[in-house]
Amino acid sequence: MHSNKKYFLLWCFFLMPLLLMAFQNCGARGFNGDASTIDWASVYGWDPMFPPDHTIVFVGRTSSFTFYQDLVLNVQFSVSPLDKLQSVTISINGVAQTTLKPEQLSSLNLDFSSLQGTVDVDALATFNDGKFARNRITLELPLNGETAKSDNNCFSSSDYDSCIFYKNPIAQKGAPFSPAISAGTDLSLYQIYGVKLRNLASSTALRNDTFNISVSTGTQANKTQSVDGNSWKLSYANDQAKHFNAQVMAYYWLNQMDEVFTYKMGVFYPHNKSIPIDAYNSSIDNNAYWDGTGILMGFTTIDRSGKSEVALGADVYMHEMGHANLAIASPSTMNFDSNTHTTDQSGNLLCKTAVGCMGAIHEGQADFHAAIMFPENPRIGEHFFNNLDGLPYRNVLANDSVSAAKAYYDNNGEIHGLGSVYASILWMLYTHPQMLKIDFQKMFAEHLTLLTASSTFTTTKGIFLAIDTAKYGGKYQKIITQVYAAKGL
Ligand SMILES: [Zn+2]
Repeated sequence: MHSNKKYFLLWCFFLMPLLLMAFQNCGARGFNGDASTIDWASVYGWDPMFPPDHTIVFVGRTSSFTFYQDLVLNVQFSVSPLDKLQSVTISINGVAQTTLKPEQLSSLNLDFSSLQGTVDVDALATFNDGKFARNRITLELPLNGETAKSDNNCFSSSDYDSCIFYKNPIAQKGAPFSPAISAGTDLSLYQIYGVKLRNLASSTALRNDTFNISVSTGTQANKTQSVDGNSWKLSYANDQAKHFNAQVMAYYWLNQMDEVFTYKMGVFYPHNKSIPIDAYNSSIDNNAYWDGTGILMGFTTIDRSGKSEVALGADVYMHEMGHANLAIASPSTMNFDSNTHTTDQSGNLLCKTAVGCMGAIHEGQADFHAAIMFPENPRIGEHFFNNLDGLPYRNVLANDSVSAAKAYYDNNGEIHGLGSVYASILWMLYTHPQMLKIDFQKMFAEHLTLLTASSTFTTTKGIFLAIDTAKYGGKYQKIITQVYAAKGL
């Protein structure tokens, strides 16, 4: 009765032959990603009660996601038409907090000291002509006393256990490197993200009950080889044979992922499963894998004369761990369903049709894991490619208007390229102006358990509709239907 052929799959970061890379123009984004300037109703244009000439804007806040360390936020608003404004109601994570009169718009202090995690701050303006305007900013508040920050004096400060990169060296610098980073490059100007390594099971090894970090090519990280002989700080300029930074990046960011997902989603399926991480494996050429048991990270040679560890990109760890999260939530997703999948002559896995297949869902949701961890900059592969856009066809900021049919055509059904449609669906749902992010985080975690080897994009729509009905009384049915419709699904 079962048509699923058992098949050993390596869930890689990247399709196998670089020659098949299909860099296409991803088209214009439906909106520009700047939440402070989005008029909610005009985004999808369904509600005449929210006309485009009625607006409310958070003054001085231009990013849709802001990592916020200070726990009191001062907010001002700009409203139009001001002479028709009756009041502004502020909600936090969907719960109304306070109502302002027009003369109170110039200053509002919001105290978040009792909150952590993802917080949607929502402003609803009511006008005396019966119309409304809405806007939202999202704050990412520190979890569990997190104190990591960029500090030029990281190496000499006793405040930190290690000095690594925020996301990856290119994101940390805000620019590509010229020449691109190779192992042994002096990165002391950029190795400045000061972190504490929490939850270590041992003071001398990078492991806990969830992750066990090792290296198959290099030297097992140890404190005695650090700059001060007793920390996890090691200069990348001296690291070409040891690959110590690849290991610390693994521990810090994967533990961070465990904490963030456990808090936001209520569950991180690999938690306490002792996942082996090979932070550097010199036989893995321009790639990284989840092999069904652990993560293996290779090297990149793209745009550079030497080699650099893929592991310098936390975004790639997030992607691979996204495969692990789904594989553990629903083990059957690791099977190959020949009804929906095929392979090309190069060995690349393809979906048979534009409605997708588990391979594309696996890849797309893995990209979304990275986007959840770095929502203010959800691109992936910046270090891998030494550019600010990372993998252009997998940039969720650029794919709102790319239909499943177009992605299928452009990528010949290849699962990473077609998977960008699924990452985009998840991102559009998550960032939809009327979706509470704390609700979608829970919905996302639950949907992982309901995916199977034969799932397609179409069946995922049914899964989200069913979870919404059971969990939220169906309040997101319209949004879910509209996002899938935007993909031609
Ligand atoms: Zn992958």
